[in-house]
Amino acid sequence: TYTYIIFNSSRKINDVQVLTVATDENHGLERFLRSAKVYGIDVEVLGKGTKWTGGDMNLPGGGQKINLLKEKLTELSKSGKKEKIILFTDSYDVLFLASIDDILKKFQSFPDTRVLFAAEQFCWPDTKLASQYPNIEVANPYLNSGGFIGYLPEILEIVNYKPVSDKDDDQLYYTKIYLDKNLRESLKIKLDHNSAIFQNLNGALSDVQLKSNTSTEIWPYIENVVTKQRPLIVHGNGPSKLTLNHFGNYLAKAWSSTEGCAMCNEKRIELKDDKLPTVMMAVFIEQATPFLEEFLDQVLTTDYPKDKIHLLLRNNVEYHETEVDDFFQAHAKEYATAKRIKPSDFISESEARNIAKDRCINSACDYLFSIDSLSRLEANTLRHLLSSGYDVIAPLLVRPGLAWSNFWGAVNSAGFYARSSDYMDIVYQNIKGVWNVPFITNCYLAKMSLFRLPATKTVTYTREGIDPDMAFCASLREVGVYMYVSNELDFGHLVNPETYDISRTNPDMYQLFDNKMEWTTRYLHEEYHLNFDEERKHLMPCPDVYWFPLMSKRFCSEWIEIMEAFGQWSDGSNNDKRLESGYEAVPTRDIHMNQVGLERHWLHILKEYVRPLQEMVFTGYYHNPPVSVMNFVVRYRPDEQPSLRPHHDSSTYTINLALNTPNVDFEGGGCRFIRYNCSVRDTKLGWLLMHPGRLTHYHEGLLVTKGTRYIMISFVDP
Ligand code: UDP
Repeated sequence: TYTYIIFNSSRKINDVQVLTVATDENHGLERFLRSAKVYGIDVEVLGKGTKWTGGDMNLPGGGQKINLLKEKLTELSKSGKKEKIILFTDSYDVLFLASIDDILKKFQSFPDTRVLFAAEQFCWPDTKLASQYPNIEVANPYLNSGGFIGYLPEILEIVNYKPVSDKDDDQLYYTKIYLDKNLRESLKIKLDHNSAIFQNLNGALSDVQLKSNTSTEIWPYIENVVTKQRPLIVHGNGPSKLTLNHFGNYLAKAWSSTEGCAMCNEKRIELKDDKLPTVMMAVFIEQATPFLEEFLDQVLTTDYPKDKIHLLLRNNVEYHETEVDDFFQAHAKEYATAKRIKPSDFISESEARNIAKDRCINSACDYLFSIDSLSRLEANTLRHLLSSGYDVIAPLLVRPGLAWSNFWGAVNSAGFYARSSDYMDIVYQNIKGVWNVPFITNCYLAKMSLFRLPATKTVTYTREGIDPDMAFCASLREVGVYMYVSNELDFGHLVNPETYDISRTNPDMYQLFDNKMEWTTRYLHEEYHLNFDEERKHLMPCPDVYWFPLMSKRFCSEWIEIMEAFGQWSDGSNNDKRLESGYEAVPTRDIHMNQVGLERHWLHILKEYVRPLQEMVFTGYYHNPPVSVMNFVVRYRPDEQPSLRPHHDSSTYTINLALNTPNVDFEGGGCRFIRYNCSVRDTKLGWLLMHPGRLTHYHEGLLVTKGTRYIMISFVDP
């Protein structure tokens, strides 16, 4: 082992040995050793690979730590160096925040002290002993055994004071020695009441502040605002482990506002194309999902060779089954293996998720990549997560414009959502990095070798009374597996299923407000944005009649389907109960948008996408939002109403969107502007005609001779 020779101000030579206990190599130990490395501290780990017989650490226990330490100190004592200093700490929930030199200096500033124990606010495990403490009028009155520093002879005497069984409580053992006045005084044992060195977090959360963005310091630190100390070692004792996880995202030079995310690159793996890991891509469709078609496309276009992917496609929504089945039939054979779980299998969500995990554990599968249908990912997400080197990691996904994401920054004592102080900063990418968090969902990558260890046998998606992801994350927390969320890059977003109403025809059409990204991608004309190019010459087929691409082909066909499924076309007479007056002078066969629940949506389209076009060509007229009471689809066909007589519209301007195509879907048709003797017959799918309404553009609907013509009309600003 390695020892330090430290020269302090009085030139006295101190020989320091840093010791800890860790029977298992877990994420807690890894983080502890990282912090030691950051501060140049060499730690000897005792008990490595041996069986933990110290009991359940949520209960009294831990005597094994004393026995391991006793063995080591006995060995050290044989070297005869009396002035050797021993620093002992727990490992799974401890971080070093300073160099050994700083720690030693602090220790030696305690007067008349040969052994200094950490201190905390709770007298544990035996509260009755509180009254025996010599001084409880201090910040942290009681002994904590998670950290102590002192001279070898005294510590040796302490650990040899009497036999202790592995199952006994180590804190109780040390406490009793401390409470013995004679021993306390003869061995010069003191407690670090002010957290000058050791900061225990349990019960101290309002005393301890994380300073993560100060102008004076490069790296974040913690300050005990009650004792005005800057602790050098932090311990997430008892139930404060999640707080330590949060602090650990910043402390020990993990992240800084100027240096960025140190933890992002420390574990990075280079993916070699000839040696790519095998991934089980487990896809879960647990609820009716907007824009599922685009989701399945994304599954297919993931940037990863399909012969390295085992596909598990689970659908539990009858409504989506045909689409999912078509996808599976078409693509299953492209994957290394492919398995389905259908609604008719009657498998619960938690079972399905366990099946995916266990299938991966029990096969030649390196990673589980779990994706819910609500996640929308960039194609390179899987590769990025694989190369991050983290065992369990989620890409940050957020509902656009909202604070809803696929992780929690904290959990409350009941295991439910709680907001961490940095939650919004992570969501908005004000700070970027990889973040240890207590809950992830919707999409994550998990390394399977970790799940093959005995320690993780209890990890499960099934737990009475809580949903599967909460069960999964709770069981990961219990076995000390850290979950991370990365917001280093834009990985995608979440769709919002809350208002998705599958009783509608083409329900995605109704998602303009809740899933605007998907909606505009699918339904806005692919050339819509070209309308705004500076050099663009707007088409004007007749005087002051402008022509713009507005909606996609898909929009037009779905829009017609919605009308036809509704089917209640007006009768073409002058009596119209839908109107306030009850009278329509120039009637058509039509359906109003408020009859099919699309009024709000259409008005939004007018405001967001039509108004800017109007402002471009009819300059100087601004009216926002545009008002339109009459928004309707007209159907012209030979056996019903094939044409419309000349008329003026009661509007400032009128828009007329072609929902289908002349000479393909119908013959004849079009619009004639009588004053100019000008007609538009070759209307274009998804393009709108925009013309002034009231006075100049007296017009008629030309005769449809075959098939059915559909147009969408609005009289804007009547
Ligand atoms: N420990 C160990 N193996 C175990 C459990 C605990 O080596 O299976 C050691 C490790 O150093 C850990 C310490 O015992 O940090 C105390 O356990 P824990 O941190 O769970 O307890 P707490 O600090 O909450 O009392």
